[in-house]
Amino acid sequence: AKAAGKGGMVKYDQSMSERTTARVRLFNRLRTAESAGAFAVYYQPQVRATDGRIRGAEALLRWRDAELGMVPPDQFIPACEETGQIIPVGEWVLRQTCRMVRRLEEAGVPDLILSVNVSVVQLMQSDFVKTAARIAEQEQVDPRRLELEITESVMMGAYDEASRRLRALRDIGFNTSLDDFGVGYSSLTYLRQFPFSTLKLDKSFVKGLPEERTDCAMVRSIIRIAEDLGLETVGEGVEVDGQRDVLAESGCTWLQGYLIGRPMPEADLPGFFAGWPGF
Ligand code: C2E
Ligand code: CA
Ligand code: CA
Ligand code: CA
Repeated sequence: AKAAGKGGMVKYDQSMSERTTARVRLFNRLRTAESAGAFAVYYQPQVRATDGRIRGAEALLRWRDAELGMVPPDQFIPACEETGQIIPVGEWVLRQTCRMVRRLEEAGVPDLILSVNVSVVQLMQSDFVKTAARIAEQEQVDPRRLELEITESVMMGAYDEASRRLRALRDIGFNTSLDDFGVGYSSLTYLRQFPFSTLKLDKSFVKGLPEERTDCAMVRSIIRIAEDLGLETVGEGVEVDGQRDVLAESGCTWLQGYLIGRPMPEADLPGFFAGWPGF
């Protein structure tokens, strides 16, 4: 918005209406995204903290719009959740990821785990468990090769139902992970209540390592608790050696971050794994 007057009031109003226009535009463009083939799944590698052995990768949705350019997921995923579009889009991401499991198996990289983000809107669909199982079966992928990542805020409200569904997914063989651990509420309660196999340590904790003493202390304690509860841990947002070192010394199981690799197009992943030297 152009500056208008000294009060700033007009300017504020303008930018408000600009934001609304941008929002409407985003929703409109988003509706065309699937049929335009404008979505892509990128993959970010995960490796073992101690020696760099490959674990797998996290699938991350990308949207490149002809008019808007690349739109960050933090902007378009909430929009997809509002409209319900996240349901077909989320199924598409899971299917693509299944195909990547097959592709990596065929390339001779066995026993990988690929993670997929699952929105609250998806998990709360009454047929979500069936749908996830059906997609894995249709794509002939063992659910043990997949991990469903759920953000803790997801569980607010529908506690018992969410817990039952996670249990059902575990029973089928899916790994389940609690995403962004530590940034929301009641985190420890969630860990006790829900059948997760993996805890993802939010990158806001990793960021301060190795300098910030409180972050080091938090990270160590969280990993200890996870270990005691029988959960594996993934440290997110690992960008530098010092962060890797603290995580490895603290017993973190797996690492994910730019230090290992950025999210990459699907065509690049098999080659990345083939050329990965370990630590
Ligand atoms: P997330 O699940 O916490 O994903 C990790 C985010 O951290 C990704 O952002 C990734 O690109 C970024 N990241 C990875 N390594 C580093 C690092 O070393 N440093 C820093 N600063 N950042 C790093 P991205 O791809 O922009 O995704 C943002 C969020 O959008 C994701 O956060 C996830 O909540 C959501 N999202 C992405 N794909 C999907 C999807 O298919 N379905 C759903 N429901 N949500 C998705
Ligand atoms: Ca995630
Ligand atoms: Ca995360
Ligand atoms: Ca996040």
